[in-house]
Amino acid sequence: MNIIKVLAVLVLLYVGYRIVTMFRRVKSQDVKGYRVDAAPPAGEDLVQDPFCKIYVPKSQAYLKEIDGRRQYFCSKECCEKYLSDKK
Ligand SMILES: [Zn+2]
Repeated sequence: MNIIKVLAVLVLLYVGYRIVTMFRRVKSQDVKGYRVDAAPPAGEDLVQDPFCKIYVPKSQAYLKEIDGRRQYFCSKECCEKYLSDKK
């Protein structure tokens, strides 16, 4: 059966991937002393959506000026909900 071979390859790839990422995490923990996945992506500012409170990269955020202040949202929908909540 060919499907068995395909599945076996996929499992091996997955296990290999897990081992590599685990190894990388441990290695960078030793070097930097903190968890890499807790840090924001390098060179990218995170902004908080004031409506749903999630953090989004500035370049992907929806920007809207409200009362002369720049507010960043994860989506246009959140911005509209935020504005209608304020009223
Ligand atoms: Zn949002």
